[in-house]
Amino acid sequence: MSQYVGAIDQGTTSSRFIVFDKGGNIVSVAQKEHKQIYPKPGWVEHDPLEIMANTNEVIGAALARANLSATDLVAVGITNQRETTLLWDKKTGQPLCNALVWMDTRTDQLVQRFTKDGGQDRFRAKTGLPLATYFSGLKLLWILENVEGARAKAESGDALFGTIDSWMAWNLTGGTNGGIHLTDVTNASRTMLIDLATCDWDEEMLKHFNIPRACLPKIVPSSAVYGEIHTAPLRGTRLAGILGDQQAALVGQTCFSPGEAKNTYGTGSFMLMNTGTEPVQSKAGLLTTLAYQFGDEKPRYALEGAIAITGALVQWLRDNLKLFDVAPQIEPLAASVQDNGDVYIVPAFSGLYAPYWKDDARGVIAGLTRYATRAHLARAALESTAYQVRDVVEAMQADSGITLAALKTDGGMVANELLMQFQSDILDAPVVRPKMTETTALGAAYAAGLAVGYWANVDDLRANWGIDKTWEPKMTADVRDHHYKSWKKAVQRSFAWVD
Ligand code: ADP
Repeated sequence: MSQYVGAIDQGTTSSRFIVFDKGGNIVSVAQKEHKQIYPKPGWVEHDPLEIMANTNEVIGAALARANLSATDLVAVGITNQRETTLLWDKKTGQPLCNALVWMDTRTDQLVQRFTKDGGQDRFRAKTGLPLATYFSGLKLLWILENVEGARAKAESGDALFGTIDSWMAWNLTGGTNGGIHLTDVTNASRTMLIDLATCDWDEEMLKHFNIPRACLPKIVPSSAVYGEIHTAPLRGTRLAGILGDQQAALVGQTCFSPGEAKNTYGTGSFMLMNTGTEPVQSKAGLLTTLAYQFGDEKPRYALEGAIAITGALVQWLRDNLKLFDVAPQIEPLAASVQDNGDVYIVPAFSGLYAPYWKDDARGVIAGLTRYATRAHLARAALESTAYQVRDVVEAMQADSGITLAALKTDGGMVANELLMQFQSDILDAPVVRPKMTETTALGAAYAAGLAVGYWANVDDLRANWGIDKTWEPKMTADVRDHHYKSWKKAVQRSFAWVD
């Protein structure tokens, strides 16, 4: 009987369950979107109970679609939207409030409070991260300070903190009967509460942020058998891998050697470069983060360029401006004009992340004239993704000293050929799309499969990777330089909008 590996891919907009075979091919998939809750400008929430229910639903659907049951899976891995934070009651399993989503900016006052005393980079050497609204530690502090009863319960250990991976693992392995409370090194490295060198909660950081240790999960490797799943429809199979979504994509793209990098184009875009067994400090505005830890091997580190808004801008044009009905329609609309008509959009909806780290930036549309049409806006929106990625690539090259030979891509936006060509043009480098673009889920499956010996080692995984299409640069240097210079000017205009 064939055996497979399952991956739960709990993303910002939807939850998916994918079953993979040994060749890394998709055997079955099911997906469901969940509500985005926007209570105030800058606030973004998810309902953790809805996410858990949707996840169980898509697991059931994907298994049923291929006529499989839990016993056909040798193991299951989780990959999750990172930094999204929640606190739940250990006895009832009820969240104390909605989850604060990674792009939520309500912690801006807390960021200011801590920045005042030592600057934005005061914890960078230890945590690899600048003070920003993005990371989960301060989101937890916000909950402790603003949700009634949260601090008392967290201090007594009656409320548990977790990012979405912890929430899922706890529910799957026991739910209200007390599942296992853990998080993997990659998710932990986004809290700003661990020391990168030890991969453990750091007493000093916990003290700075006034976080009680009693509510924190145990930090575990990304690939290891954590325990048995006790809830339907996966009852009886083993949970054996956890990776934050971007680190999962790095693994799915088989970037196992130092210097190998990938860029994922989804809601936001995230470029990670494997830097091996040593954390590399960034001088150019990147993050230093855990890449993965397989079993008892040494943890691997990465440099990361995180961009908050890329595909989300496409959604905004669709939902808020009603320029088209579904995301793929942006491509023919953008292709209906020769160029951007000198329009530039800086989608600083949640401030700007790498390499700028400006919480107080907000979106701008620059260069408007009577000539500009909705097609120019569509084009400018796609181009903004490519410019932001170039900003990150430049930072990556400065920090690592490595010139990118080609960019390995994945994520929902790589279906957009106009974007891929423009990306190659603006980088002046080849852009490569692999055959398998569901690399996030694949990475989680790889982590789980490695833990149980389904795949023997990373060479087995490398053999699964193959190219679908490569785009080569066609743009003249003059045009490229004009575009990028204009982009940089527009970025300056987005700064210091919020007082
Ligand atoms: P996530 O994992 O962050 O939820 P995905 O990798 O599933 O995101 O990608 C979805 C994103 O890609 C959405 O923001 C959507 O607007 C965008 N997208 C999907 N298809 C296209 C397309 N053909 N052109 C441009 N953007 C697209």
